[in-house]
Amino acid sequence: MKYEFVSGLETHIELSTITKIFCGCTTAFGSEPNTNCCPICIGLPGTLPKLNAAVVDYAIRAGLATHCTINPIAKMDRKNYVYPDLAKAYQISQFDKPLCSNGYVELDNGRRIRILRIHIEEDAGKLVHRRGDTLVDYNRGGVPLIEIVSEPDIRSVEEAVEYVEKLQLIMKYIGVSDCKMQEGSLRCDVNLSIRPFGQKEFGTRTEIKNMNSCSFMAKALQYEYERQAELLDAGETVTQETLRWNTETGETESMRGKEDAQDYRYFREPDLVTIETPAEKVEALRQTLPELPDQKKKRYVEVLGLPVDDADMLVKHRLVAEFFDEAIEGIKNPKAVSNLILGEIFRQLSTDEQKELFDIRVTAKQMNDLAKLMDGGKLRANLARQTLVKMLETGKDVSDFLSEQDLAGVDDSALEAICKQVVEQNPKAVADYLSGKEKAFQVFIGGVMKATRGKADAGKARELILSMIQ
Ligand code: ADP
Ligand code: MG
Ligand code: ZN
Repeated sequence: MKYEFVSGLETHIELSTITKIFCGCTTAFGSEPNTNCCPICIGLPGTLPKLNAAVVDYAIRAGLATHCTINPIAKMDRKNYVYPDLAKAYQISQFDKPLCSNGYVELDNGRRIRILRIHIEEDAGKLVHRRGDTLVDYNRGGVPLIEIVSEPDIRSVEEAVEYVEKLQLIMKYIGVSDCKMQEGSLRCDVNLSIRPFGQKEFGTRTEIKNMNSCSFMAKALQYEYERQAELLDAGETVTQETLRWNTETGETESMRGKEDAQDYRYFREPDLVTIETPAEKVEALRQTLPELPDQKKKRYVEVLGLPVDDADMLVKHRLVAEFFDEAIEGIKNPKAVSNLILGEIFRQLSTDEQKELFDIRVTAKQMNDLAKLMDGGKLRANLARQTLVKMLETGKDVSDFLSEQDLAGVDDSALEAICKQVVEQNPKAVADYLSGKEKAFQVFIGGVMKATRGKADAGKARELILSMIQ
């Protein structure tokens, strides 16, 4: 690889406000075409937009969660272009005074992908191509979007995917979007250029429009990197153009070149007032942010002592992390709870979609009850696992499966008697162990567990037996 990969992403995220950005129509997805529309969002003359305050709050929260500065003064602009999905022939967006600037998303390798800006705008309608006809559905027109523009800081396909996944997770945690790429609520335009390693200047970039899946994005970037590298290798140059990814051929193809780059004739939207965001408002919104995925992960590792990989798996889905947090309330050994989630529960929720929905029959409170018994040393890991499986099947409480007697454990004198008996019954294991065969010790522990039906404390039994045979 002699060329460095240089990429910057423009990520569009649909906000999950109840109503659209400039009117009271619902933002619901999947309705009958053209039923969630009104004169404002189909742009009839004489109508006036009114900015939805919730959109501004959501966008500011998105900015705060990505370390942006929130600009005290912002405004809306008209971006003019003619296309059938845009009835007004202009999109209301933000040009030179966006709501948020200068943030970043930190990758696991410690590199920060800087965010140039986050602005708010309205989505366009959707064209549906059917049997040679093109139909237009304006339901999506006026749905609020944020556009997050990164600096060209991304240096590999993997970093691009991680950046998008991190953005997605952050936005889901703060609840501003469901970020479903398959439903189009998160879409990326990816810009790529390459340059010989060591060269300071950026190469000429191409832009692949509207990637709506991370796996397509990865394929498209890889393809485009190789295409550009072949051009440079052959002594040719990259042409600046806008591309589309063809999922059928697995190739990028040209949509338009730089020559027909549009002039959007941006100008201030005269029907909307300046957006003022005083510092107090920013601070109040900051208070509404939950613990973010990276903070959570750090706490799981540094405070709770979980392995990094375990922490990663727990924070990857918001509902899983919330369940875990509730289940470990007042618990001394969170690792035991994490093991049950990553083991027994994830065995049932094998796909990412299932983990995301986290539809299980055990509540966090029920899990907390189980964890308390483990914490008190009354319930050994093995029995806890078996019990959790039954709870997952039935939705019943831990007390429905384990009686007080089951949980009473084995008192010290009984344990001593059982250990003594096990030692006496296994003279060969004693001899083996004393002659250095460490493994022979398992015979004793196995015997004690069998006699107590798994209720004995293995550590205590070990100590007792050692004192008897040495
Ligand atoms: P537009 O695409 O609207 O013309 P910009 O020039 O602001 O807008 O660039 C948009 C995106 O392209 C940004 O995410 C930026 O990081 C990325 N970008 C700009 N220059 C390059 C480059 N030489 N190589 C790769 N990405 C680039
Ligand atoms: Mg662009
Ligand atoms: Zn409307």
